[in-house]
Parts: sequence; C-alpha cells; structure tokens
Amino acid sequence: MGLNVIMMGPPGAGKGTQATRFARDRQLLKISTGDILRDEIRAENPVALEAKARMDRGELVDDDTMIAIVRHRLMRPDAAPGFVLDGFPRTVPQARALDQIIGERDNGPLVIVDVVVPEDELVRRLAGRRICSKCGVNADPFAAGDACARCGGELVQRVDDGQDVVVERLKVYQRATKPVLEYYRERPTFRVVNGAQAPERVAHELDTMIDDAATVGAAILKAGQ
Ligand code: ADP
Repeated sequence: MGLNVIMMGPPGAGKGTQATRFARDRQLLKISTGDILRDEIRAENPVALEAKARMDRGELVDDDTMIAIVRHRLMRPDAAPGFVLDGFPRTVPQARALDQIIGERDNGPLVIVDVVVPEDELVRRLAGRRICSKCGVNADPFAAGDACARCGGELVQRVDDGQDVVVERLKVYQRATKPVLEYYRERPTFRVVNGAQAPERVAHELDTMIDDAATVGAAILKAGQ
C-alpha cells in the first residue's frame, strides 16, 4: 500500500525542507508546486510566465492551473508508491480536487501534517533565505559566501521573499490556506508538528507522527473495503 502526505504550513515554516527529506528517506515522489512553477518559468513556459506576475506579488496562481499541474504529476508512474506534497493544496477548491484525484488513484492513506511556526519567526526566516539563481535550490541558511554549494551559481533572495511581499504572502495564507486546515482538521490522519524546533527534531517528530497516522489511515481504508 502507498503512502501519501500533504505538508501544510505557512511560507517559511520549513515544510519544503522536511518534505524533501521525508520523500527521499521513504522513496516517495516529492511535489513542490512552487518549485515546479519556478522551473517552468526558467524554461519559459508561457502558462508559467503568465503566473509569474502573481507569484512576484505574493498572490496565488489560479486553481485550474495548479490542479492541472498536480493532476499531471500524480498520474506519472513514479508517483505510484506515493507522494509528498509541498505547497498544494492552498485553497479549499484545490483540496476538493485533490480528494477526487486520490479517490481515482486509490493507493494508500492520506496523511496531513500542519507545520506550525509563530509569525515573527517566519518573517525573520524568509528575510534571510537565499536560493540559487541558476538551479533554484534553497541555500543552507548558515552558508557563507554567494555561491551555490551544488552548482556554483549565484545565491540571491527570492523576488517574493522581500519584506512587503512576505507580508502579503502571510495574509494570503491566513485568508486562503487556513480554511484548508479546517477542511482537514477533523480527519483521523491530521497531525500538527511544532516547526519552531531544530530541523532534526522536527524531522524526528514527523517520522513518528506520519507513521502513526498512516497506520490509522490504512486501518480505516481496510475497514471500508
Ligand atoms: P512558500 O515558500 O511560500 O511556501 P512556494 O515556493 O510554495 O512558497 O510558492 C511560491 C508561489 O508560487 C506562491 O506564493 C504562489 O504564487 C505560487 N503557488 C505555489 N503553489 C501554489 C498553489 N497550490 N496555488 C496557488 N499558487 C501557488
């Protein structure tokens, strides 16, 4: 049986880092909608270039575009063992569409984790975050110098990590994405982790709680068969 995980949380909560590590450890497909959009912009895909203005302002890209991107990825054969989603769903219509896609795939439980971090800490983290202008990877926050450790490209601040845009992204999170948590909160496979701890600690807690929730979810699926 597969395992499907949604990593929820505000911008800067560290969900991308945790999603990458968890997916690698468990050999699941990691899907980060923000990364996909930035890759497509670098590749000058016209749909993504249209979305760029909204991203740069900290606004959301429209639901139809995002649902089509995620549906396409989830149908790929490498998504068969399961997936870790980072940055999706961000609206209730996206969450509803995802439930439908998961129903069609019919492969393992869905675990939802909310990574919680206080707002002042989020603003501080995002102001210091740098990414590689060439390969798009997040830089180690403690890295000295301006060169990417992976490809040597120049490290820069993300356009949407500037102070004003961060404030807008946090507002959008409160307005559009908080309701998604309410959509999931009552499910027996919903869990909350304290993201304001050391990354290794968060990783350890995530491992335990996702395994626990997956067991619960698998039992429910079995009972429903
Ligand atoms: P964050 O660091 O805020 O989690 P991401 O890298 O996930 O940021 O996303 C950056 C931007 O990409 C968002 O501010 C938004 O404009 C767009 N985006 C990513 N995922 C979605 C989505 N599911 N729905 C709408 N817009 C999205």
